[in-house]
Parts: sequence; C-alpha cells; structure tokens
Amino acid sequence: MSRIFSLAVVLLTAASCATTDRSSSVERMYVINCGENRTNDVSRWTPGVNVGKPGAFGNHCYLIRHAKGLMLWDSGNPDRLAALPNGLTNPAGTITAIMRKPLTESLKEIGVAPADIQHFAMSHSHGDHSGNANLFAASTLYMQAPEYDAVFGPEPQKYNFIAANFEKLRGSKVVKLNGDHDVFGDGSVLIKSAPGHTPGHQVLVVRLPKTGPVMLSGDMVHLVYSWNNRVVPSFNFDVPQSERTIDAMKEYTAKTGARLWVNHDMEQHATIPKSPAFVQ
Ligand SMILES: [Zn+2]
Repeated sequence: MSRIFSLAVVLLTAASCATTDRSSSVERMYVINCGENRTNDVSRWTPGVNVGKPGAFGNHCYLIRHAKGLMLWDSGNPDRLAALPNGLTNPAGTITAIMRKPLTESLKEIGVAPADIQHFAMSHSHGDHSGNANLFAASTLYMQAPEYDAVFGPEPQKYNFIAANFEKLRGSKVVKLNGDHDVFGDGSVLIKSAPGHTPGHQVLVVRLPKTGPVMLSGDMVHLVYSWNNRVVPSFNFDVPQSERTIDAMKEYTAKTGARLWVNHDMEQHATIPKSPAFVQ
C-alpha cells in the first residue's frame, strides 16, 4: 500500500516538474533601481494613516530574459534627472523625483542596449513609470486601449500624463489590449488588466523558473500596507474600480500562489536582489 502511494507521489512530482519546465521559458529577471520619489506626506497614498509623515518610495524597472527575447516592464524616472543631485520637485512641492543612475547605464552594465528589447510595456503612464519610454520606440508596445486613448488623445494632461514622455512612441508597433495578454504565448509572462489607478492600468505576472510566479504591481497598490488593507489614494482615476481590482488580484494570487512585488515599497524591495544580480 505504502509502496503504491510513494510511487504515485513520484509520478505526480515528475508530472508537475514536466509542467513547470514546459510552461516557464523565462530564464531570469533583472530588478533595476529606477529612481526614488520622496514626499513630505505619505498619507496622500495611504488616506487616514501616515498623516504629515515624510517618506520615500522606491521605483523599479524589470527586464525579463525569455528564451524568445527581452521584455522591459516600466521605464522609471527620466534619465535626465541624474544630472540634478537634489532631484526635481513638482510645482505643488509634494514630491521630489530622484534618478541617481540612468536606466541606459544600468542596461549597459548587463550588456543590453534599448534597441535589443523587443517587448515593452508599462504598468501605466504616470511620469515615474514612463520617464524613459521614448528610448523604446523600436520595441513592440503593449498597452490597454483605454490607456492608449488617454495618452495619445487630445487631453493627456487631464489624466496626469506628460505627452512628451510618449512622443517617439506614436509610430511604434503597438498591441492594443482589452484585457489579459500572454506575451510569449507559453503562459510564462502575462499582462493582466488591472484598471483603477489609471484607465488602463495593468500588472505583469512572471513565472520565474526557481522563485515561481511573481506579480509586478505597478501602482495597483503603492505599499504592501495598501495591499493588506485595501487602501488606494483618493487621486486614483477610479477609486471603486481600484478596490475591485485589488479584490480580483487577491483572488488570482491566492489561486496561483503568485507573490506580489510592490514596485514602490522600499522595505519589500530591500529583500530582492538588484541588477546586475538577477532573480530566477
Ligand atoms: Zn501612478
């Protein structure tokens, strides 16, 4: 009886290994430091808590090396900010954007030029995610249709988007999405529609060969605290939709075992190896 049982376990294990090998052709992922944003009042992002408390948000870009090519997720604060040692403060004085090391330099360090990147997507179009988007005009761009219409429509500023960040992408090859998309066709890199923070916000699920599935948050939530407490900023494009998105993604991560990596959470990202090291 017990021998039959252990044989069954061996067979099951073998079957699940075979599935893992087949479904993940992601070789590695580089988590790149893409700037920092400092604020004098964190409660703008966590209504009701951290009132009047200064704080800093990390910012990251993610380069995925798949057997079929390279994909970049988010493009960080603009490289040109590297020339400003004190960063750039917005006119309202609420946030200072810093970029110590340009993204182009971080990519060069791992032997990648912007033109080598075939696939490019941003979680959404705010300035700290689209700062270097123009470098990737030769890539195929993946964008949700409502986000595309807001960025390239007549009033991008109405959505807090900076039109200049996208001017070189007008002629780019674009895959307009209305929902989820399997980038390499093997289930290993999935763009998931996650609207609310902006009209066409999206998250990325990467099946790492050793770590397993990881969901890259974009600004679906800004801190692990926000994920745990279902908290979103009042300035989001649609607050109830943002909350529904958190519920849907919680269901997805529970079902798939994906862990959430929160882009702006410095404390969580301190535990994740940074480029030129990589995660697998
Ligand atoms: Zn944002």
